[in-house]
Order: sequence, then C-alpha cells, then structure tokens
Amino acid sequence: MNILVTGGAGYIGSHTCIALLKAGHDVIIADNLSNSKRDTIKKIESISKKEVIFYEVDVSCEKSVNNIFSKHIIQGVIHFASFKAIGESVQNPLEYYYNNVVSTMVLIKACENFGVGKFVFSSSATVYGNNEVPFVESMNLLPTTNPYGETKVMSERILIDVANSNPYLSVSILRYFNPVGAHESGLIGESPNGVPNNLMPYITQVAKGKLKKLSVFGDDYSTIDGTGVRDYIHVLDLADGHVAALENLIEGVHIYNLGTGKGTSVLELIKAFEEVNLVEVPYQICGRRPGDIDSCFADVSKVARELGWRAKRDLLSMCRDAWEFEKNNQEICLNVSEE
Ligand code: NAD
Ligand code: UDP
Repeated sequence: MNILVTGGAGYIGSHTCIALLKAGHDVIIADNLSNSKRDTIKKIESISKKEVIFYEVDVSCEKSVNNIFSKHIIQGVIHFASFKAIGESVQNPLEYYYNNVVSTMVLIKACENFGVGKFVFSSSATVYGNNEVPFVESMNLLPTTNPYGETKVMSERILIDVANSNPYLSVSILRYFNPVGAHESGLIGESPNGVPNNLMPYITQVAKGKLKKLSVFGDDYSTIDGTGVRDYIHVLDLADGHVAALENLIEGVHIYNLGTGKGTSVLELIKAFEEVNLVEVPYQICGRRPGDIDSCFADVSKVARELGWRAKRDLLSMCRDAWEFEKNNQEICLNVSEE
C-alpha cells in the first residue's frame, strides 16, 4: 500500500516508517519538522535501504494536504503529527487544540474527498484519566487534566463520528502506553528538545552526564514501592503494532491499547537500566508532579485477539536500546541548571 505518514520524521513515526517499508509498503511522509530533524528522513532511508517521499508541510493546512492527496494514490493514512508536551499544552492551549484537532479534521476530510479508506490514529493512554487499572478499551473515558489529553479525546470523537457516517472509511484508534527505546542501529530514537519531560530520556541523559540527577516525582503512591507505575513499550513493538493495525483494518471503528500489559515503577526502571547498561543513575526523591496518577497499564487482550499483535521486547532491551541511542547521539551537552 501507499501510506501517508504524518509526523513521520518524529520519534514513533520514524520507527513506524521503517516497519512499513520492511513490510513492503511505500511511504510518503508529511512533517513540518516542528519537533524533528530533516536528517531523520535520510536515516530512515539508510536503515531500510528504500526511498521515501517527503513533504515539509503543516498538516493542519488544508491546501497543503489536498496537494499531497491529489499527487499520489494513497491507500492509507497514519496520523502521528501532533504537539505532545503536556505542560506546554497548559500554557498554550489554543495552539494545541488548533494543531492537534484541526490536523485530524483536515486529514479525515481529505480521506473522504479522495476516497482513501484506511485511517490509523495516534491516541494515548492519557484518555483513560484516573480509571482503575488495567485500562480496557471499553471503559468510559475520564477527564485528562490537560489540553493535550483533551485534543486526543476530541480527535477520537471526531474520527468515530465520521467513520460511523461513512461505510467506506475504516478507522483504527491506537492508544499508546509509554513508548521508550530506539532502533537497534542506534541511528534513530527519542531526542527531545531541551530538558526531557519523560522519564526514559531523562534517565539516559543523567547516565551520560548531560544532567546531574534524576528527580523521582513522589514515593507515596499506592504502588509496589510508592513510585509511579507505567506500562513501558519498546518503540519497535509499537511500530509493528501500526503495521498490524493497518494491514488488518476492517470496516468500522476499532480502538486498541498498545502496551505490554505490565506495570513498572520508576525505581524498577532505574534499577533495570543500571543493571543492563552497567551505569549509575543518581536520583533523589522529590514531591509528586501535578496531574500524575499512581498506575497506568494496559489490558492488551483485545489487540492480541483481533490483530494477533503483542509486544515482544522486554524492559531490558528497552533500556539497552535507549542507552545505545543516547551514546550515539553526539549532540552538544545541554549544560542546564537543574535546581
Ligand atoms: P514527535 O514530536 O517525535 O513526532 C511528532 C511529529 O509530528 C514531529 O516530527 C513534528 O515535527 C510533527 N508535527 C507536529 N505537528 C505537525 C503539523 N501540524 N504538521 C506536520 N507535522 C507536524 O512525537 P512522537 O512521540 O513520535 O508522537 C507521535 C504521536 O504519538 C503523537 O500524536 C503523540 O501525541 C502520540 N503519543 C506519543 C506518546 C509518547 O510518549 N511519545 C504517547 C502517547 C501518544
Ligand atoms: N517521572 C519521574 N521523573 C521524571 C519524569 C517522570 O519520576 O523526571 C515519573 C512520573 O512521575 C511517572 C513516570 O515517571 O510516574 C513516567 O513519566 P513520563 O513523563 O515518562 O510518562 P507519563 O507520566 O506521561 O506516563
């Protein structure tokens, strides 16, 4: 299939492009490089030994999107492009609602207008809010406490309504848990701008000496050791999940959790990282981060049953691959004051 991948130069998008190319699909990337670099396109090509078509465009711009759809016969869209920093979304809600929700509307409208029947959407476990774990796709969604999360809830709602009104359009909504790790080549991975918000890139930067110490946000949650529990999933497994979702997409709307089904605490992750990589990760226990929940992990039975997909890589390979990428990532040290 000819697949349009929006946000294909980003962290999850780039790994998914490689998985798609490996599975024999052709890839067109649309990315405005607002949170990624142009050389990722070359890296995708060099890893997969195949060419991709790249458009540097904003996918909330209808004219630019229609231009791509009119130039290529597209069979499916995977829509990754979005802003994703929770704190920033609280500061600039309008920017987030515009970028994330309008892009979804523009793309699904183009699918309707150009007769493209398959649409896969990047959603997030954040839509479950503070439900009981494990999170099951059929649960009622709870408030997400931030505009970023609301853009995912709204986009899901829009896609469900559009797909229900159009029998020719099939939509797969993928709710990711915590993607970590990197491609085994060490060429592509997660390289956030500035100081990382997420745990794994923070750990790798502390291990490398770019940052002094990790702050563990709270040790008084009702979890195994008091620190927050999350369902970490290797980005390569996540990428394969997209290929499975696309290739098995049948009529209607389908919602799937993409996680491992296993919860890991912050302290367990630090320990696993130190043991497999033989490095130290100095940390201190701090207060809770506002908006965080105790535990977040997936029920993965639906995706296994319906798509035959399950995550294969364990926590140690996630830690090893994240560290390999960090070591290869030759960017200048950030020199950030942490206090
Ligand atoms: P990322 O920032 O690395 O990738 C997103 C890409 O989209 C970037 O390359 C950026 O330049 C591009 N982009 C943003 N807005 C655009 C626009 N209007 N037009 C064109 N390109 C645009 O993020 P990621 O971690 O790869 O996340 C991909 C998707 O997965 C996002 O939708 C995100 O919300 C979702 N998600 C991510 C996580 C996570 O922890 N990384 C968890 C759950 C869901
Ligand atoms: N966390 C932490 N220190 C950090 C970043 C995150 O202790 O510098 C904790 C956070 O409180 C949560 C877990 O690590 O319990 C995962 O956080 P992340 O931001 O990576 O993912 P999310 O909270 O979005 O699931």
